[in-house]
Amino acid sequence: MTNHKQPHFILVPLMAQGHMIPMVDLGLLLAGRGVLVSVMTTPVNASRFRSTIERARLACLPIHFVELRFPSAEVGLPDGFENIDVVARMEYAHDFFRATRLLQQQVEDYIRERSPLPNCIISDVCHPWMRNVARNFGIPRLTFSVISCFTQICEYNIRHYKVLDSLEDQKAPFAVPGLAERIEVTKAQVPGFWVGWEEMAKEVYEAEFAADGIVLNTFEAMEDVHIKSYAKAMGKKVWSLGPYSLCNKTIAPMAARGNKASIDAAQCLSWLDPKEPRSVVYVSFGSLTHMKPSQLREIGLGLEASGHPFVLVIKKTETNAEVKEWLLEFEEKIGSRGLVIKGWAPQVMILSHPAAGGFMTHCGWNSTLEGISAGVPMITWPHFADQFLNEKMAVDVLEVAVSLGVKEPTNWGVDDVPFVVPRDEVERAVRRLMDDGVEGRARRGRARKLGEKAKEAMEEGGSSHANMTHLIEHYTH
Ligand code: UDP
Repeated sequence: MTNHKQPHFILVPLMAQGHMIPMVDLGLLLAGRGVLVSVMTTPVNASRFRSTIERARLACLPIHFVELRFPSAEVGLPDGFENIDVVARMEYAHDFFRATRLLQQQVEDYIRERSPLPNCIISDVCHPWMRNVARNFGIPRLTFSVISCFTQICEYNIRHYKVLDSLEDQKAPFAVPGLAERIEVTKAQVPGFWVGWEEMAKEVYEAEFAADGIVLNTFEAMEDVHIKSYAKAMGKKVWSLGPYSLCNKTIAPMAARGNKASIDAAQCLSWLDPKEPRSVVYVSFGSLTHMKPSQLREIGLGLEASGHPFVLVIKKTETNAEVKEWLLEFEEKIGSRGLVIKGWAPQVMILSHPAAGGFMTHCGWNSTLEGISAGVPMITWPHFADQFLNEKMAVDVLEVAVSLGVKEPTNWGVDDVPFVVPRDEVERAVRRLMDDGVEGRARRGRARKLGEKAKEAMEEGGSSHANMTHLIEHYTH
């Protein structure tokens, strides 16, 4: 299948929806430019993207999956535990990452059989072992990171200046050094996911330093300064190629993105279509957060009290008997003013609908950037990992969001999100975001302009489009 003149890139995502979805979008963008793209992943993960890849195949895009057997038995994980959203608990997470390392042999076997060898590897930053693969075959390797460049440079500076070493108090705010703007965070809010994973964090940083370049889902008009400082700090090229989600231009690919949606696209659109432009608040907390029933109820009641129409996404795994019982009564009460999606939502389709007017988000970087790309202002409720810094980016740097004021990170995989935000705070934040006063209008205007710039970046002549041209040329010749 390899055409000797066609560039061939290998993409190796981490198996988590917040990593797989943007990497598949990036693969589609590369394939749209004529690059042969091999996305290497395991069967459970490939099956979630089957319809996306099938659509690409019908459009003659040269992208395909290379399926790798997930070594669950070798590490003692149950069958099917191939994605972080299934792993879900911290006690399995170490085994999961141990299993990902064991994929190295299969990746190498595939590469060994290619002639000519692939031109470039783009591998998730959480696969530091891909460094060895690239070295063994002499193939250039770019790391793929799913956080904003602002968050990257903040984390870099905090490490570089050893800020955390001298801090005792987990809750005392400190200013991130080396930034043009004054950004305050607490020790508890950074470095998020890496607490208890210090050894892996070290390996990840070292592998990123050793890479040939860094690929980021961002765009120059939004954070040129951060891109330049991060490139300088790392001493290598930082390729800003996003927002990748904008490669999904029509309803069908938007609705099929990630997992199979729990609501039919037509049903969702028939709810959204009659709503006033920019009137609906979309509420979703990504693929990994887990709320307790009491917190879900408070969110629902706060949305109801706000008086604005809303879409509330509740995960299947959060929908226990208690939640189901409450929803029976709640859905009846709110009628057509609210839509509750139980399971996976077609997020990008909803956000890009003209009725979308606000987004309450957990600040995962994909979601944040999808809100930015749609030109929709946000309410931020970070939970863990990079999310607190992404909140700072949206609220303080870009000024397109209002904060719900949550300061304490949650313990992913250990505790579900307890009741931390009462209904009146949810109501107040929604009213503030949707307000038609001077502040609300100015925020909406900034969000709309930023959304336009995001789209421009991805069009021909835009910065991300041009960067992708250079990247392909750079690794093909
Ligand atoms: N997503 C979606 N529907 C859902 C939940 C999530 O399409 O019901 C997508 C969302 O659009 C984003 C990704 O899943 O692309 C979640 O990534 P993010 O970085 O926002 O958060 P994470 O899930 O990694 O915490």
